[in-house]
Amino acid sequence: MKKFFPNYISHIIQLLDKYYEFTASKDSNKIAVIPILLERIENLRCEFASLRDLDDLTEPDQLSRNISNFQTLLMHLEELESFGLPIVTHYQQRFDGHLTSIMKQLCSEVGSPVDTPHVCAISTGTSGHGRDYYWYHGYFDTIFVPAAETFSMLNLPDLLHELGHHILKTYYHTFLDPFIEWIIEYKEKLDKVILLEDIHDPERIDECKQVFSRFWPESWRDELVCDLIAVYCVGKAYAWTNLKICQSSFPGNSIYFYTDSHPADAYRMDIIFAMLRYLEISEENIRKAWLEYATIFRHKKSFLYEHFFPLDLTKKIAQHVYEICNDIGLVPCTENLHKDNTLISKFNRAWGHFQEESKPNPKKKGEGS
Ligand SMILES: [Zn+2]
Repeated sequence: MKKFFPNYISHIIQLLDKYYEFTASKDSNKIAVIPILLERIENLRCEFASLRDLDDLTEPDQLSRNISNFQTLLMHLEELESFGLPIVTHYQQRFDGHLTSIMKQLCSEVGSPVDTPHVCAISTGTSGHGRDYYWYHGYFDTIFVPAAETFSMLNLPDLLHELGHHILKTYYHTFLDPFIEWIIEYKEKLDKVILLEDIHDPERIDECKQVFSRFWPESWRDELVCDLIAVYCVGKAYAWTNLKICQSSFPGNSIYFYTDSHPADAYRMDIIFAMLRYLEISEENIRKAWLEYATIFRHKKSFLYEHFFPLDLTKKIAQHVYEICNDIGLVPCTENLHKDNTLISKFNRAWGHFQEESKPNPKKKGEGS
């Protein structure tokens, strides 16, 4: 270990030097996140170098701790190799460049108070399954999307949800602090329900505990806030995009199904409707389409669903996000919808055309059945 361990770290430092050199040689006018990437590479290099230069790196009593720290750094290296470097290696004007300029235009239309995130088209799925669809990587300030997104406008409203994650990085406390009180309030209500319903099953109790101690504070609130920012900025087009994603979900997934990272589709739709009401946008046709979809499979609400996803909370959250969006200068979609040349109005018109196209063509005389 005396030579192997420090030599292994030196080898990684040499790789990072190559990564730095390669990234620095690219055009930051085209890939605006290059300075961020260079900073991330440099920081990681420093961390590996500090580890290698420890006096007690291979001392028997420190070795396991030092190897653990090394393995943690390797995870950051993997993240850089999986997502940071591909931002540079993958870059093509036709895809990433085009999508980033769409993002730039959107940021300008919605009055985004933060820098435009880069868009990199390396995701693999167009149907909305999991991570490989639209997602935001906060460490590299980049939104990852599938390459086919340059060919259609129907999914692009989702860029506004990802922009929401980017905005949350700067306005984290402004948007999320009120949730602390709500989470306490609804956790107490859930605790009372557990007592009243006389629930003893340890698995069910554990599930209940996770809802307000982990799921809401760690991810659900962020996802819901980003949904609301998207609706505020792009309006009903986001609701249609969301319905499309729900329908593309894994076969058999209930609309009440949730994961630790994402709240139930049904609740996301409830909160989307709540924001549409604040914006005074008619929700009639999307609500009708959603209700039709929601009843097809006759999914049953999961255990204590109403207490995990309180309906009265949607109004509070929507009102709060509406006010903060206003305060930080985001432009509500209602101001862009009537301007023909905005992307916001184009996305909504695209969804309008989609509804028309989906109606069956009237048959011409003489056509068979
Ligand atoms: Zn999200």
